[in-house]
Amino acid sequence: VNDSKKVFVKTFGCQMNVYDSERMLRLAESAGYLRAEDAESADLIIVNTCSVRDKPEHKAVSEIGWMHKRARAHEGVKLVLAGCVAQQLADSLLKSHPFIDLVLGTAAIGRLPGLLSRIESGERVVDCADSDADIGMPLADETTPGRSGPSAFVSIMRGCNNYCSYCIVPYVRGPEKSRAPGEILDEVRQFVDEGAREVTLLGQNVNSYGRGLEEAIDFTELLGRVHEIQGIERIRFTTSHPKDLSDRLVQAFADLPKLAGHMHLPVQSGADTVLKRMARIYTIDQYCEKAEKLRMAKPHMAISTDLIVGFCGETDREFQETMDLLDRIRYDSAFSFKYSPRPGTAAAKFDDDVPDAVKKERLAILQKRQEQITLERNLEQLGRTVSVLVEGPGRGGPDRRKGRSECHRIVHFNDGSANPGDLVAIRIDEAFQNALVGTPVKPLK
Ligand code: SF4
Repeated sequence: VNDSKKVFVKTFGCQMNVYDSERMLRLAESAGYLRAEDAESADLIIVNTCSVRDKPEHKAVSEIGWMHKRARAHEGVKLVLAGCVAQQLADSLLKSHPFIDLVLGTAAIGRLPGLLSRIESGERVVDCADSDADIGMPLADETTPGRSGPSAFVSIMRGCNNYCSYCIVPYVRGPEKSRAPGEILDEVRQFVDEGAREVTLLGQNVNSYGRGLEEAIDFTELLGRVHEIQGIERIRFTTSHPKDLSDRLVQAFADLPKLAGHMHLPVQSGADTVLKRMARIYTIDQYCEKAEKLRMAKPHMAISTDLIVGFCGETDREFQETMDLLDRIRYDSAFSFKYSPRPGTAAAKFDDDVPDAVKKERLAILQKRQEQITLERNLEQLGRTVSVLVEGPGRGGPDRRKGRSECHRIVHFNDGSANPGDLVAIRIDEAFQNALVGTPVKPLK
């Protein structure tokens, strides 16, 4: 019996990985493990890696060293390398790092309990087969209700069919596969029972949800069904490919009051020519038209994005077009990165010809301008009353609370009676770069 054994998961990367880590924790719990507070007190350490950004192998290897150090200090610790890097490097990792017990691919997570008993009996295993039919969360451990807090993530699909030229995801997460709606709704209900009030529906491209399912259903229809679930107060989703953002989905922002007024709509570049090399399949005019429709459907709609600077062949002029786009859309926030090639992608064969110093300079210019715009957008919130989902205590006194507005901004306020999961109405009095500060107006419920 493993009842005294503990598991710790270290997570890198996107919300999909956060979701997968929670899945692994719950599966390990079903195999008798308890959650450890830190790696030092764990008997099973799982590193969930990401290969989407920056030097994946290098990071994975240094992380393996980190795991190994802890494992040595604690005889009998089992080490698992999971996630996209595991999927990519598979056998070679087990050969080059003799202290790894299990290399677990992204599509093999559902088999974790069986694999754990194999490594516990001394085997070393690689499982990166793409045959995990179940992509959902295992049923919650009944002894720990409410653990997920007010916000929950639910995976609605996995993989991607788009093959944007710079992106490794279709190679490491496989082809797009939607999850049956009944399973998704059951999982949302499970999280509501555990105390969740907000759900974020996850997928690499949620807008194409439903393709290949027996039941004829699209993403907008799925949103409508989640909206009907009692106890859910707020719905978010990520990520969206602009080419698949339909008018029906835009309309949902006007029709579904629980659908939060925030859209993450990755654009990647402001130049049509670069978008073409990236195989993104939309033009900037088409993109801007969709952004405009979103803002018309829901007043004060927040729009955020992802941007890559220094993509292969990016000229000064093309970079300037990205800068122009920032002023045209006025994003509420943006994640921006320097391009670096991912082995195995189409763009890895292109000439990565923008010098690193130029990439760095462009990134700094872009981030500086976006910071200004973000602050301006935050200042536009002054005097508005926004609905805030309380996450927990804030800094600066026992009555201080912190939560997120519909548009995903952090909001601080004083109200000692507000509990995590409450929706409160806050009038915004101060705006800063990373947060807003306000005063409670009246309870929303
Ligand atoms: S849509 Fe493009 S960027 Fe997004 S996961 Fe798919 S291939 Fe990658």
